[in-house]
Formats: sequence, C-alpha cells, structure tokens
Amino acid sequence: MKKWGIVLWVAVLAMVLSACGGGNASTEGNGGGGGDDDKIVIGFSMDTLQEERWERDRDLFVERAEELGAEVNVQSANSDDAKQIAQAENLISQGVDVLVVVPHNADAAAAIVEKAHEAGIKVLSYDRLIKNSDVDLYVSFDNERVGEMQAQAIVEAAPTGKYVYIGGSDTDNNAHLFKQGAFNILQPKIDAGEIEIVYDQWTKDWNPANALANMENALTANNNDIDAVVAANDGTAGGVIQALEAQGLAGNIPVSGQDAELAAAQRIVEGTQTMTVYKPIRDLARNSAELAVKMAKGEEIATDTTVNNAKIDVPSILLDPIAVTKDNIDDTIIADGFHSEEDVYKNVE
Ligand code: BGC
Repeated sequence: MKKWGIVLWVAVLAMVLSACGGGNASTEGNGGGGGDDDKIVIGFSMDTLQEERWERDRDLFVERAEELGAEVNVQSANSDDAKQIAQAENLISQGVDVLVVVPHNADAAAAIVEKAHEAGIKVLSYDRLIKNSDVDLYVSFDNERVGEMQAQAIVEAAPTGKYVYIGGSDTDNNAHLFKQGAFNILQPKIDAGEIEIVYDQWTKDWNPANALANMENALTANNNDIDAVVAANDGTAGGVIQALEAQGLAGNIPVSGQDAELAAAQRIVEGTQTMTVYKPIRDLARNSAELAVKMAKGEEIATDTTVNNAKIDVPSILLDPIAVTKDNIDDTIIADGFHSEEDVYKNVE
C-alpha cells in the first residue's frame, strides 16, 4: 500500500513537472520549437550575464514570456562575437518563433538578422541596436539622454577643470550614444575653455578591470591632477573609483555611472560615486517579452519612433531613463523596490 502510494506520488509529480515544461521552460539548451507546435518559443541571445543588470533582464523577460504561455531559450555568449553568432544559428535551426538579441557587437550581429530572416524569423534588438541590418524592432532607453544625464550631474559637481571620459565598449552602439550625449553637455564647456578633456578611452567589453587600468593611466599621465570623471556605467565607475581609492582621491572627484547596480547605489550614499542612471529594466524586459510574442504571432507592432541603424530606419520604442543622486535615491531606486533601503544603506549609519 505504502509502496504504491509513493509510486503514484512520483507519477503525479512527473506529470505536474512535464505540464510546467519541466527544466526546459526557460533555461539554456532546451529542445527548441520542435516539441509542442502551439507553444511559442523565443530565442534570447544575450551578449553577457556579467553585469548585475543582465540577470535581471533575463529573469523578468522569461517571467513575462512564461505568463503569456511562451517558452524562452536563453543563450549567453560571454562577450564573444563568434560564439553569439553560433548560438543564434543554433536557435534558428531549432526553429524558434522569434529571436531577441542583445548584441555584443553591433555590426557583427547583422549576420544573425540575415540568417534569421532567411528562415522567416523576426528579430528584436534588445537594449542595444544591431546596425547595418533589416532588424525588425528595437526596444531600449533613450541612450543619448543617459549620456546627457551623466555629464550634466558631473558638470554641476565640477563646473570647471580637467575631465576624464571612461567610455563603454567600442563595439556596443549604446557606448557611442552615451558618449554623444555626454559631449552634448561637455562640448560647449570645452569650447568656452571651462573644461579640458585630459583622457578619453573606450573600455574593452565594458570590463571594470579595463576601466581600472585606464583610470590608473589617466592619473599617472596627469600627476593625479584630475577634477572629474564621466564613466559610462556602474561597472566602469567601480574600476575608476578603485583607482581613485588607491590614490586617496575617492570621494573628492565626482564620478558618474549607470544601471543602478547595488554596489553603485551604496557608493552613492557613501559619497564616492556622484550619480547613476536608473533604467527601469522591468518595463524594458516585460514590454519586450510582450512584443516578442506578438512578433511570433505575426501581429502588427505599434511604435512611436524610428532609429537609423546605417541601413534602415528601425521601428523603435525608447523608454525614459532617470538620473539618480543621493538626493532622490530613496524616491526612485528604493521606492520602486529595485533595491531595498537596508541593502543600499548597509555600510552607512
Ligand atoms: C547597456 C548598459 C550596460 C552596458 C554594459 C549597455 O549596452 O545599455 O546598461 O551597463 O551595456 O553591459
């Protein structure tokens, strides 16, 4: 009796698990679109899961897609172009219904769009634009505005002096938009002789260790005589602040960031980072999941703008970023539940 009870229980558990899609609902390496003909399968090709934000993007995207009855096959390429293309080809050959791509390399990823289209699969460019391609939809934030917010906050903190620009990854179109935005604010001040750019570098793969090395070079080349740093995101800001700390300068030199990472939020309340840009990832991820499902069903997508990708005007949806300093951190990041008050103020009284 007892034995049969266990057997029955195991059988029921197996049925429940398979009804839930089991282990293949949202993780790497599922069987693709081949299994259940009715179920929409979304291929999600990500550059990296290194930064804190991308795990959040993935989780929120998968959650929304699953609420809509779709399945997501997530792949992460570890900042490797060839790997990202191979993973995307694999998703295409598995017969996914739609492809969502966060490109490591804006130009190289055009090959993914071409291959997807040959197979009749539409492509959504997620957060980062795929250039020189017929990509179907781009969903992101107003990234030029992000750069403007970064420079604006730093210019308010250091209206004159020697500036360092620590950019993002040269292969990421967003890095160029952030820089464009920052220089919209900085250039008039450079022209007026109020600000001098003494160092300006991209950060390979957005890697904080590369930002640290670049900031060390900037400090050495200028005998530590630097007044402000515009850093393109919180990861690079972390590297910059580490270099400043080693010289006893952290907290004296304004530094920008972006992403509202927990470490950055903590540095803001501790006083070593001036600002971050909070981009409500929940809206980006959930909207994109909804749009991807619509694309898979062949439904029309209403967009409010277009962004030129050097080949076409890509139908686009751009969400609003929010500048965050010590003054509004409680009303933004914390009020939204992006981080808890306890976590943000962990190291301060
Ligand atoms: C994103 C940023 C992110 C950076 C590094 C950019 O494309 O917009 O939010 O910090 O990539 O991953």
